[in-house]
Amino acid sequence: MIVRMRNPDATVEVAGPMRVGDLLDHLDIAPHTVLVIDGGALVVADHVLAADAEVEIRPVISGGAGGLTCIACGRPPVLEEPRHRAAWCASHVVDHVHNQIRKAIDHAHGTDHNERMFGYADRVIVAVSGGKDSLALWDALLSMGYRVDGLYVGLGIGGYSVRSQGACEAFADARGVRLHVVDLADTYGYTTPSGAVATGRSTCGVCGLSKRYAFNRVAIDEGYDVLLTGHNLDDEAATLHGNLVRWHDDFLARQGPVLPGRGGLQARKCKPLYRLSERETAAYCVVRGIDYVVEECPLVAGNSGHEHKAALDLIEAGSPGAKAQLLFGFLDRQSRVAPQVGSDDRAADLGACAHCGLATVSEVCAFCRQRERIRAALPLLDAEVPA
Ligand code: AMP
Ligand code: ZN
Ligand code: ZN
Repeated sequence: MIVRMRNPDATVEVAGPMRVGDLLDHLDIAPHTVLVIDGGALVVADHVLAADAEVEIRPVISGGAGGLTCIACGRPPVLEEPRHRAAWCASHVVDHVHNQIRKAIDHAHGTDHNERMFGYADRVIVAVSGGKDSLALWDALLSMGYRVDGLYVGLGIGGYSVRSQGACEAFADARGVRLHVVDLADTYGYTTPSGAVATGRSTCGVCGLSKRYAFNRVAIDEGYDVLLTGHNLDDEAATLHGNLVRWHDDFLARQGPVLPGRGGLQARKCKPLYRLSERETAAYCVVRGIDYVVEECPLVAGNSGHEHKAALDLIEAGSPGAKAQLLFGFLDRQSRVAPQVGSDDRAADLGACAHCGLATVSEVCAFCRQRERIRAALPLLDAEVPA
């Protein structure tokens, strides 16, 4: 059989037939870190791969094993999740993911009982990177009947950005939905790599600030009621862990699946995937036939979030559910642990940036200050920077 491995890409020939579990053992791959796809269909450890099978092993970075039948219908499962002590067949993977999103929208942790993230009448925009999480989210919300447009921010990270934009455009075209595209170089005169060189900041720092700004800018200018991102349980638990380890009180107070908007300054922001692991969103994409970009951003090395993800993966493997307990438990007691939340101190400090008019606690917002520094250091690009 032909076995194609992803990220890093490699193709090997292995003599078959062989059980999936034995193949992974043979290749020295931990089963809970991957999805195995046989001729386009997800398969579990006991599935026997034919001698002439074409197999893909796709990394997902998360944890799970166990479960013999779909908990909803008893058919053979394609995904197991120890955290839920459950496994699902392909159609019930879709149900499971939709149910978790519905729960998040209707009763997010840390929100009022009757506060929903958004409703069917709202105009919703989802920031899509071309990766599994945000495309899964867009697909799920469209199939649940919400009005959702997309937003892709071109960061100028070579072929990775080209392929990511292509995945978003193909998704939008196939469904006849609207995708906004903002290119950092065209709109603001720099790319993530050139901005990092100009400021001496990390690429992740420049990228994060630029993305958050572009998301807010489009959501406010185009009059959307709510802006969504594809942050999942793994992302949110890792961010929380990082903030706890360093006791970033301010970040702890502001982390959450629902961040309120402030008039024309700051869009309401929500994270409907915060109850789902990245393994679950990856499986959803495979089952739904969503063609997402599997490769990781090539500039991600040195992003401290990854250490916290790896640490939590280790804990989750020995103690399924630990990530969800950490995150949900924190959100339930956030007002006690990080009391600034819910107070109006910060809201009162927020004003309009003197340059761009969006939210800031100082006179000029962090994005405009960063852009000024880049503009000063990259004079050759000046001519292309709009006023
Ligand atoms: P990341 O910060 O790369 O983990 O991405 C978190 C979320 O931010 C994703 O799930 C998307 O919703 C959004 N996002 C990341 N990169 C982009 C991008 N280039 N354009 C639009 N949205 C993005
Ligand atoms: Zn089922
Ligand atoms: Zn500004």
